[in-house]
Amino acid sequence: KRSTGPVDQWTKTTCVYCGVGCQMEVGSHDNKVVAIRPTDSPVNHGHLCVKGRYAYDFTHAPDRITHPMLRRGSDWHAVSWEEALSFTASRLQELRNKYEADSLGVLSSARATNEENYLAQKFARVVLGTNNVDCCARVCHQPSAKALKTMLGTGAATNSFSDIEHTSLFMLCGCNPTENHPIVGARIKQAVRAGAGLIVIDPRRTELAACADIHLALRPGTNVLLFNAMAATLLEEGLQDDDYIAMRVDGLAGFSSFITAYAPEQVASQCGVTSGDIRRAARMYALAKPAMCFHGLGMTEHLQGTQGVMSLINLALLTGNLGKRGSGINPLRGQNNVQGSAQMGCEPASLTGAQNLADAKVRASFEQAWGTNLPTSAGLDLPAMLAAASSGKFKAMWVMGYDIAMSMPNASQTLAALAQLELVIVQDLFLNETAKAVGHVFFPAASVFEKDGSFMNADRRVQRVRQVVNSPGEAKPDWQIITELARHMGHEQGFKFDAPQAIWNEIRSVWPAGAGLSYQRLQNESLQWPCPATLDDNHPGTAILHQQGFGAGPKASLACIDYQPTAEVCDDDYPLLLTTGRELYHFNAGTMTYRSPNAVLKPTDTLDISPADARLLGLAQGQSARISSRYGTAVLPVNITDKMQVGQLFCSFHRADLNVNALTSPYCDNLVHAPEYKVTAVKVKGLTAE
Ligand code: SF4
Repeated sequence: KRSTGPVDQWTKTTCVYCGVGCQMEVGSHDNKVVAIRPTDSPVNHGHLCVKGRYAYDFTHAPDRITHPMLRRGSDWHAVSWEEALSFTASRLQELRNKYEADSLGVLSSARATNEENYLAQKFARVVLGTNNVDCCARVCHQPSAKALKTMLGTGAATNSFSDIEHTSLFMLCGCNPTENHPIVGARIKQAVRAGAGLIVIDPRRTELAACADIHLALRPGTNVLLFNAMAATLLEEGLQDDDYIAMRVDGLAGFSSFITAYAPEQVASQCGVTSGDIRRAARMYALAKPAMCFHGLGMTEHLQGTQGVMSLINLALLTGNLGKRGSGINPLRGQNNVQGSAQMGCEPASLTGAQNLADAKVRASFEQAWGTNLPTSAGLDLPAMLAAASSGKFKAMWVMGYDIAMSMPNASQTLAALAQLELVIVQDLFLNETAKAVGHVFFPAASVFEKDGSFMNADRRVQRVRQVVNSPGEAKPDWQIITELARHMGHEQGFKFDAPQAIWNEIRSVWPAGAGLSYQRLQNESLQWPCPATLDDNHPGTAILHQQGFGAGPKASLACIDYQPTAEVCDDDYPLLLTTGRELYHFNAGTMTYRSPNAVLKPTDTLDISPADARLLGLAQGQSARISSRYGTAVLPVNITDKMQVGQLFCSFHRADLNVNALTSPYCDNLVHAPEYKVTAVKVKGLTAE
């Protein structure tokens, strides 16, 4: 437990880490963050996890970059903001003139507030003249958003965390909430102790899997097969909700004949589970009313990530588990504001509020609001930007709060693509791996404790972020940097904001579902969208989607999805299957948590391996092992654990120097390009100490 010194002031704000969005008070003394304590909220009920509560020292880390910098040769030089902005503006203009607007792009992230993400995409579209804008949702839950939007009409969680205490059964798919969303994990655990049923679908024996009624330890990459087999069971055994289907679901006849090919007895061995367990899980999910699904990146980071979520939605439609309290399909968003990044329009084919760029009426309304014509064709997403960079068609990227070189799969290929760019602008707290390798300009950004704004959590809840301390040196909030660069590129009008509230009011004017979310209301409460404007300004927000209908109509259609195996397969040379993910003490690229005492609690990523495989390979606990894939190698200490199945490995990816993404494959989701981080064929060799 951390000891704290004197506190002058407590400031209420939102956690910077996962998408649960816990509320906290941050204690400051002498312009320093010195303590954090939880506050009560509908999300966290007065609790915080080990990341939110203790991992705040990054904000005062000695290696914070506090001045703008330009790289000359191999060295970085501190310069004034004026010099950095003028240089960047003229380089962007030069490249746009020499090539075209679509050779430029912007990458925003969950580190930025809603207001900053909104300005990032407006900058790309209005100032640069391109729809090449994306965010970190691309590598995590873009498949969830696509699946939910396609089948139900809204690309977000259907229900709320407050439903956890009102469900009869949880089905957790490819998620490990006690480590990655710990406050939600703890609430689920308490609800299970109080009598709710629990099905866990996960290759690893996670903490919640160990206390589940049924644990389906499926082979990674077989989600579609498994959910199809559960759907086949429901229909074969007459467990579907006929009344609900009659009122709310289309396509049953075609789906019923399609799904017979997926009887559990036909697919169980491919999934690595028994047909009996698949049938038991299907019965349990169908008979418990209501039943609630949460899912994580074990669902989405696959070749069929989007289709895996769609096949899960089929189950909810067949059993009437949508539009009701304690039910639904709920992606556990990994980052504080990843829902907000995409929702604000940091997507190549969508404008703010997930409004369709291809719709001329939508475009016209934004053109009127922004006073300019907009580019009409969908832009490039991040993987497509990197591919275009490799082929020489993409020239410049502005990256905000996102360490691409470390986070993207197949690191050597990513670095080779980034090295082709003529201009890389990195905006961050620290000189991250991307900046070190390929950066030309560095803009020092304010941390979450140094700015105002709002975040949007995983259950569509908008919550305020409040400034606690001043930024060090000349670091600035992202929104100020964007407005200043826009001005340097001749766009004073449209970027003249004196505070985040003014930006938020513009967002409300172009996003009807968020129009009722005024700062005045958010001052004392948090609200979930849709929250349209009303005459009396008291719309309660929407805790449960789809109570009356789905998107365009009263009914949603079942989707017939055939299973397609990934091309990334094990063979004699690479006989083991590696999945990667996060763990309790650290967060993503480790930028923040490794600059906190959490680094002592968990000092390194490890290679998790089953006792049987460790014996076979002659590996001892703590010994270094070299992991090799078809794409690269990494060396990690061995952790022998019975959480792992024979033939499967797991490692987290938080330490830059260990470079776990050197291993991961270039394959990605076949609809929205989320990388297939969850399936890499590898071999392992123990190393002897020198
Ligand atoms: Fe922060 Fe997530 Fe932990 Fe809550 S559960 S304190 S939001 S990291």
